[in-house]
Amino acid sequence: MTDSMLGLSLPDALVQSERVTVVLGQNPGMFTGPGTNTYIVGTGSRPLMLDTGQGVDAYAPVFAAAVRDTRPTEGLQAIVMTHDHPDHIGGVEQIQSLLGTQPVLKMTHPRRPDDPRATGVLVDGDVVETDGATLRAIWTPGHASDHLCFYLEEERALFTGDVVLGAGTTVIPDDGDLADYLASLRRLLALDAQVIYPAHGPAIRDPKRKIEEYIAHRELREQQILACLREAVADVPAIVARIYVDIPEALHFAAGMSVTAHLRKLEREEIAGCDGDAWFLR
Ligand SMILES: [Zn+2]
Repeated sequence: MTDSMLGLSLPDALVQSERVTVVLGQNPGMFTGPGTNTYIVGTGSRPLMLDTGQGVDAYAPVFAAAVRDTRPTEGLQAIVMTHDHPDHIGGVEQIQSLLGTQPVLKMTHPRRPDDPRATGVLVDGDVVETDGATLRAIWTPGHASDHLCFYLEEERALFTGDVVLGAGTTVIPDDGDLADYLASLRRLLALDAQVIYPAHGPAIRDPKRKIEEYIAHRELREQQILACLREAVADVPAIVARIYVDIPEALHFAAGMSVTAHLRKLEREEIAGCDGDAWFLR
């Protein structure tokens, strides 16, 4: 995969369709690219909001202008969360301070079950509705164990959160699981969506190709890692140095997380094992 989030810039707000407006979270960075996308969804006066960004000061006026420009609002039907990473849920208090208390719906994180910001629980298959928009929650663990994607039935559009990004690839952190992640990608592929609205980067107009690329990319990395182990390139930094030749050094930490995720998957499949930091084929 050659595209990258580095240097990508996006408008502060963009009307994607009659029912979807994206508002940029104003939190650019190494892991967020141009920033986290937040979405206003629906055609009526009480739209849904999908993800809230990180809560940075610069977001408030941009969000207020987007609400003003796109449609009159009497507040939100609900805030729905893809997952509880800080660059997605960190803006809840800010939205509440702008619009008053709003319902916040999210999947319960198994290790953080009592999030005081959540007022309601979503599980796989739940439907959240407002005028002009029907969002169906799809449990998609892998990047995060509490990750939900949302399928917008009226547009066959998929909000993929951090599972599929508009550029580059996603990180599989400690809370993630690569086998789950691949299963989640295959589940999304089967939905045959027409457009993907990701949490970072631009909308994806060819979802099938993008998801297939993501799956192929992980399969390629697995083959590269197996080749390293065959040649006794055994620890994570050495594997990163060998196979991530095309990324800046600053991203090697993230690459290391991905390699570790692959190795753990291979360990669970009893293909690889480790002795301290040294990995080997079984
Ligand atoms: Zn995330």
